[in-house]
Amino acid sequence: MKTDKYIKNYIGGALIPPDSGEYIDNISPPTGEVYSHIPDSDESDIQKAVEAAERAFPDWSTCGVEKRYRILTRIADIIEQNLDDFAHAESLDSGKPITMSKSVDIPRAHANIRFFATAIMHFASESHHMEKNAVNFTLRQPIGVVGCISPWNLPLYLFTWKIAPALASGNCVIAKPSEVTPMTAFLFAQACEEAGLPPGVLNIVHGLGPKAGEAIIKHPKIKAISFTGGTNTGREIARIAAPMFKKLSLELGGKNPNIIFADCDFDKMIFDTLRSSFSNNGQICLCGSRIFVERPIYEKFKEEFVKRTQFLKVGEPFSPVTDLGAMVSQSHMEKVMSYIELAKVEGGEILCGGKPVEMEGRFEKGFYLRPTIIEGLDPYCRTNQEEIFGPVVTIMPFDTEEEVLEYANSVDYGLSCTLWTKDVSRANRMAEQIQAGVVWVNCWLLRDLRTPFGGVKNSGVGREGGLEALRFFTEAKNVCIKY
Ligand code: NDP
Repeated sequence: MKTDKYIKNYIGGALIPPDSGEYIDNISPPTGEVYSHIPDSDESDIQKAVEAAERAFPDWSTCGVEKRYRILTRIADIIEQNLDDFAHAESLDSGKPITMSKSVDIPRAHANIRFFATAIMHFASESHHMEKNAVNFTLRQPIGVVGCISPWNLPLYLFTWKIAPALASGNCVIAKPSEVTPMTAFLFAQACEEAGLPPGVLNIVHGLGPKAGEAIIKHPKIKAISFTGGTNTGREIARIAAPMFKKLSLELGGKNPNIIFADCDFDKMIFDTLRSSFSNNGQICLCGSRIFVERPIYEKFKEEFVKRTQFLKVGEPFSPVTDLGAMVSQSHMEKVMSYIELAKVEGGEILCGGKPVEMEGRFEKGFYLRPTIIEGLDPYCRTNQEEIFGPVVTIMPFDTEEEVLEYANSVDYGLSCTLWTKDVSRANRMAEQIQAGVVWVNCWLLRDLRTPFGGVKNSGVGREGGLEALRFFTEAKNVCIKY
C-alpha cells in the first residue's frame, strides 16, 4: 500500500488521474499543511465510472456468492495485514489519534468487509404458501449500479460500511469519500486491485461534494444512493434523487442526549461519558452532546466530569499518550468555536476548555481545541438544539423522567440516546419513548453489526446494518407459482 502526493481515482480497475487534470489541496490537520492533492473529479469521471460499472455488472451479479465472499475476504485480509500503513494514513488525513485509528477505525473497516462477505453466504428470502393453490417466493436481486458517499469523521470505517454490503449483494459501486479525508480510500483501491476485484466492480471517484458527489446523485444510471453526512446535504440529495425514484438510505446528523439517573453505576457512567463526549474530538454522529443529570448527583457529576476532562491530553495524533488529536479542518474548528461563542451569548458558563490549544514546532499550525463543558443553558437554546460535532458538551440538571424525556425529544434530530440507570423498568419505559434509532442502556457505542442502525426525524431515512443493508441493496421481486 502506498500513499502518494497525487491521489488517483480508481475507475475500471485502474488508478487514473481525473479527466480535467485538476487537483485540490489535501491538508493534514495535525500540521495544517498541504501534504497531498486530490483529483477534482467531475461528471465526466463519474460517467466513465458508470460505464465501467455497467460493463462489470453482468458478471459480478451472477458470479455466485462464494466468489464474492472470497474476493471480499481477501480485501479484508490485505487491510488487516497493512494495519500500520492504513492507520498512519488515517491519522495524518483526519487528525485522529493513531491509537484510535489502530484500534477502532481500521479494525472496523476490515470487520465490515468480513461481516458482509460472510453475511451474503447466509442471506435468504421469504416464501409464502397459499394452501392447495400457489407458492410465492421473494427473489432478491442486486439493483445494478449504486452510489455510496461517506463523510470525513470515520473515513474508511464508514466507506467500507456502505461498499461492503453493496458489493456482497452483487451490485457495482461508484463511491466517493469525503474530499477532506481521501487517503485511506486511495489505499483501499490498491487493496481491491491486489485482491483481484474485477475491473469496474468498485469505482472510487475523489472530489468535491457539490461537483463529483452531485454528479453521482444526478446520474440516471445510478439506481440507489447510500449516503452518510450532514442533514442539509441529505436534504439536497433527497431533493434531487427523489423525483428520479432512486432508492435512498440517508444517515444524517445527530444531537444525542446522554441521560444520567442518580441510581447509575457512577464509575462506569463517568468513564463512558468521557468517551461519548470527546472520542474522536466529539466528531462521531453518536456522541452524546447534551448531558442531562438527575439533580441529586448533579454537583458530584459536574466536579468529577470537569476534573477528568481537564486531564485529557490534547496533542499531535502520533503520540501514544494523546487522547484528543487535531480537529479535521480549520473551517470545522472555526464552526465549533462559533458555537462556543454562541453558548456564551446564550448565557452558558464555560466550565473548562473553550479555547484552541497552542502547539509548537511542526504542529504549530494544526487545529487543536480543548474539550469543552458548558453549563447553565436552556435545553431549548440553539446551542442545545443544533449539531456542533466537536469536543463540546452541555450539562443540565433534571428532576423527573417526564421532564428529561421532553428535553431529550425536543430536538429535530433522533439518532441515538444513552441512558444510565440500574432500574430496568425505567430503562425500558424510557427506551420506548425516546425518539431515536439507537438506545444504549449503561453503555455507549457497543455495536453488534447485525443490528439495525439509523435515525429518525432529521437524522435520516432507512437503516443500515446486518440484513437491513443487504435488503437495501437488493430489489425484492415476488414470484407467484400456481399449482
Ligand atoms: P457532509 O454532508 O458535508 O458530507 C458528506 C459527504 O457528502 C462528503 O463525501 C461530501 O463531499 C459529500 N457531499 C457534500 N455535498 C454533496 C452534494 N451536494 N451531493 C453529493 N455529495 C455531497 O458531511 P461531513 O463530511 O461534514 O460529515 C459530518 C456529518 O456527517 C455530521 O452531520 C454527522 O452527524 C454526519 N454523520 C452521520 C452519521 C450517521 O450514521 N448518521 C455517521 C457519521 C457522520 P465533500 O467532503 O467533498 O464535501
